Amino acid sequence: MSHRALVTGGAGFIGSHLVDALLDQGREVLVIDDLSSGEAARVADGATLREIDIVDAAAVRVLVEEFRPEAVFHLAAQSSVVVSVKDPGLDCEVNVRGTLNVLEAAGAVGAPLVFTSTGGALYGDAAPRPTPEDWIPAPLSPYGASKWAAEAYVNTWSLSSGIPHAVLRLGNVYGPRQSPHGEAGVVAIFTGQMHEGRTPRLYGHGEPTRDYVYVADVVSALLAASGTRGTFNVATGQETSVAKIWEGLCTAAGVQAPAELADLRPGELQHSCLDPSRALSQLGWRAETGIEEGLNASYGALVAEIAAD
Ligand code: NAD
Repeated sequence: MSHRALVTGGAGFIGSHLVDALLDQGREVLVIDDLSSGEAARVADGATLREIDIVDAAAVRVLVEEFRPEAVFHLAAQSSVVVSVKDPGLDCEVNVRGTLNVLEAAGAVGAPLVFTSTGGALYGDAAPRPTPEDWIPAPLSPYGASKWAAEAYVNTWSLSSGIPHAVLRLGNVYGPRQSPHGEAGVVAIFTGQMHEGRTPRLYGHGEPTRDYVYVADVVSALLAASGTRGTFNVATGQETSVAKIWEGLCTAAGVQAPAELADLRPGELQHSCLDPSRALSQLGWRAETGIEEGLNASYGALVAEIAAD
């Protein structure tokens, strides 16, 4: 097992859970994060946090050559679809240029990299469900386009360098530490609204479906993919409607609360569901957490976090 691990975006929602898991395995962990959406307090004490922008190629290179990671997990990203529409240049800089910088630095020390791409924002509305990895992407947003472009760099660099890099296309990730103030992440948003006694708005009249995958399962996929080559959906293969998420949270909270129904917002997908069978056959990975179990665990943890805030 590789000892030194670098996590870009390790102060973020998913990255901070990955850092915890790597430390639990006894690994030495360096986090690179500019704290634009992440929080230093999320990074466990055992890891070293360096506040650096991945767009700064020289700074990334110096740090990586100093630390000499044996495994790189590249999660840092401009991860908001709304921001990508407002400022596609910034989205491109961080998600494409930033990924190239991290790839070049990983290559300089011969380290394999795992890149977190998106399943939900990549395949488009016409895709069959559950969508397999070989469906040709048709992203609806600059965020989906920049992730797809970055995937191409990861795969091309893997082929040309001979270093095994992997791409994980994540479904809709949920769990503890997700921000209740984001634009996506309905589990955290609804929990925050419920806690404040506000009525949530279910866009698309609660009918849109997504493939919700629990954060601990995403962490195990990241660990399983390190040192392998290929593109893998990381999801459950199950669709859950927004209305069902709200019902599940009400059950977890032991309340019956009304929700407001509204039309789907422009640019939003009606349905998304990813076929995870390649990850099972090639990585031996599958999502272990059912939606009910995941919602119960998330609700309790998120309420405690909101109360402590
Ligand atoms: P997040 O926003 O919580 O984490 C991203 C982290 O990257 C943050 O800590 C942020 O401060 C950092 N960052 C942003 N720009 C940076 C820069 N220029 N330099 C250095 N650090 C920078 O998001 P997340 O939900 O934890 O997502 C992690 C990764 O997974 C992202 O690449 C995201 O696109 C991808 N992803 C997430 C989901 C999901 O449902 N959460 C779904 C698909 C893909």
